[in-house]
Amino acid sequence: MILKGKKGILLGVANHRSIAWGIFKSLQEQGAEVALTYMNERMKGSVDKLLAEQNITGVELLECDVSRQETIDATFKTIGEKFGKIDFVVHCLAFANKADLEGRFIDTSRDGFGMANDISAYSLVAISKAAEPYLAPDAGIVCLTYLGAERICNNYNMMGVAKAALEASVRYLAVDLGPKGIRVNAVSAGPVNTLAARGIAGFTKMLTIQEKVSPLRRINTQEEIGDAVMFLCSNLARGITAQTLYVDCGFAQVGVGPMEAYKLD
Ligand code: NAD
Repeated sequence: MILKGKKGILLGVANHRSIAWGIFKSLQEQGAEVALTYMNERMKGSVDKLLAEQNITGVELLECDVSRQETIDATFKTIGEKFGKIDFVVHCLAFANKADLEGRFIDTSRDGFGMANDISAYSLVAISKAAEPYLAPDAGIVCLTYLGAERICNNYNMMGVAKAALEASVRYLAVDLGPKGIRVNAVSAGPVNTLAARGIAGFTKMLTIQEKVSPLRRINTQEEIGDAVMFLCSNLARGITAQTLYVDCGFAQVGVGPMEAYKLD
């Protein structure tokens, strides 16, 4: 129960396949009180159903569309005042147009580039700022990224650029918030079959390649990613900030870029 007495907020549960759902379970299992956000009414229905199916009650649920600053401000004001202090914030969301997750990156539209960066990267800056007045002196902020931020991955295209911006934002935010004791980190997860991931052309092939070439020769589970995020939120990670932690069965370390890996089969 390493998070007993800790309270925080997790953005990004859409359904039972969401990486955020694995994170929610890990945080809860370690004793944390976790508020959840949903993007819109349709997503609220899905999260309500999920909690009901699992007999989970008493979870604070708030609407937060990160493309709308007013919902970010309202969410953090409500949760900050309710909890008194926020011990952790988990950012587990991203979005890009489907058209910008296939074909040639050079064809990315100006609007698509801006929107994907706004929702997937700038949102971390916005929620960190909105959370700042309420963050506990040893709070942890964690976001989710992917190897496509640093290597060429087939069709990841615009999301790779947005994740690069996200990872750089982690480092700059860590420097801003570090003097207060607040840590900011990213977890780079391997491919997981989720709603968002299925928007990437050829995604199922990424799973196959991962199973073939990663040192552990398998796909990571939601629980494994959840535990890594939970660790970074906890006091056990009190000396860790401005880092990207890879939870991808070692795929990033083997020296086989996904682009080359695509040619293996
Ligand atoms: P998911 O579809 O379950 O979750 C994506 C979430 O983003 C959804 O809850 C959706 O509502 C939310 N979202 C999109 N636009 C939003 C907005 N404007 N405001 C608020 N929320 C918004 O997919 P996932 O794969 O669990 O994605 C979670 C995170 O993990 C993302 O950052 C993703 O890039 C990252 N990630 C995923 C994989 C993978 O293979 N699935 C690998 C590495 C990293």
